Amino acid sequence: MATHKLLLLPGDGIGPEVMAEVRRLVTWISQQGLATFEVEEELVGGASYDADKVAVTDATMARAMAADAVLFGAVGGPKWDAVPYDVRPEAGLLRLRKDLALFANLRPALCYPALADASSLKREIIEGLDIMIVRELTGGVYFGEPKTITELGNGQKRAVDTQVYDTYEIERIAAVAFDLARKRRNKVTSMDKRNVMKSGVLWNEVVTQVHKRDYADVALEHMLADAGGMQLVRWPKQFDVIVTDNLFGDMLSDVAAMLTGSLGMLPSASLGATDAATGKRRALYEPVHGSAPDIAGKGMANPIAMLASFAMALRYSFDMGALADSVEQAIAAVLAKGLRTADIRSEGATIVNTAQMGEAILKEVQALLK
Ligand code: NAD
Repeated sequence: MATHKLLLLPGDGIGPEVMAEVRRLVTWISQQGLATFEVEEELVGGASYDADKVAVTDATMARAMAADAVLFGAVGGPKWDAVPYDVRPEAGLLRLRKDLALFANLRPALCYPALADASSLKREIIEGLDIMIVRELTGGVYFGEPKTITELGNGQKRAVDTQVYDTYEIERIAAVAFDLARKRRNKVTSMDKRNVMKSGVLWNEVVTQVHKRDYADVALEHMLADAGGMQLVRWPKQFDVIVTDNLFGDMLSDVAAMLTGSLGMLPSASLGATDAATGKRRALYEPVHGSAPDIAGKGMANPIAMLASFAMALRYSFDMGALADSVEQAIAAVLAKGLRTADIRSEGATIVNTAQMGEAILKEVQALLK
């Protein structure tokens, strides 16, 4: 059986609390002989700053580079508000994303039937929703140069950001989206602003070429990103995989996230290029939420986003899709039984703490795999 190298970076605040529930699951999977994990754990963010005066050490970076998958909790908190900018907690996450060259950000938006009433949209619009937003993560206007604010000398200033994409950047993110669609409902919607932006014209052209050349079996549609935002809240179930650039993806994935309720429910994956020699790709999995300093240390954190992020690692890094399915089904089953952490409480539900939720999900996984 292959050995999977897993690096755990719990981080700050509720990060270690939710990561403990992943450990519980990993330990059980190993004990059952379902997989062999080589698990390492390191500091990141504020915890790393306290120990080593940097947000991530070179030694930890080397471990991340060597791992099959990195599992990241959350970083930051008021304790580190005054630390120097280049060693602030978030710098650890940014370095990981940059050095691992994680260009594809996967954000599923899944609506568990038991939580459909927690959405701001009507139940029939979001119940059973299962879509995936693929956001380009290392290019576009957040990184393009020039990026300046200049004095114009007349009391005015001018700010410039540069939206820039090369063909290869669009090709590789399009390929990620098409590959995902083949394992889902076989449809990709590409969103851009080709009506007003040159980068949108190229985006549209390259996605169309990649489709024609390598993925003609997948249904492809193009949508202007503003119309896409509207369609996401009007009838989100029309989508399967949405692929878009860094800026639009940032916003559209947050819109999609809120369709499904609490921050404590949302996993994500960030993937790099596939290594031609090994067939493996660098990958980091993390919940969308932050370190939640307001509830840290109280046992109130919802571990579902973290556990669902681990399920994504099982699916995309370890090729264990069936086990990933079981974890996701276990989460749905526990919610259907009325168990809730405080952030997703509803009338008549049983409120549980972080560890009780983790235990209940593990029990369901055990029952499903019996
Ligand atoms: P946050 O996501 O930490 O919290 C927002 C709200 O959601 C809080 O009320 C919190 O209690 C709640 N919440 C979040 N996750 C939850 C969970 N799993 N269970 C129950 N409730 C949950 O965002 P914030 O308050 O804006 O930021 C707090 C700190 O986290 C800041 O230092 C920020 O910079 C950092 N942050 C880190 C990341 C990351 O590590 N990727 C992401 C966002 C924010």
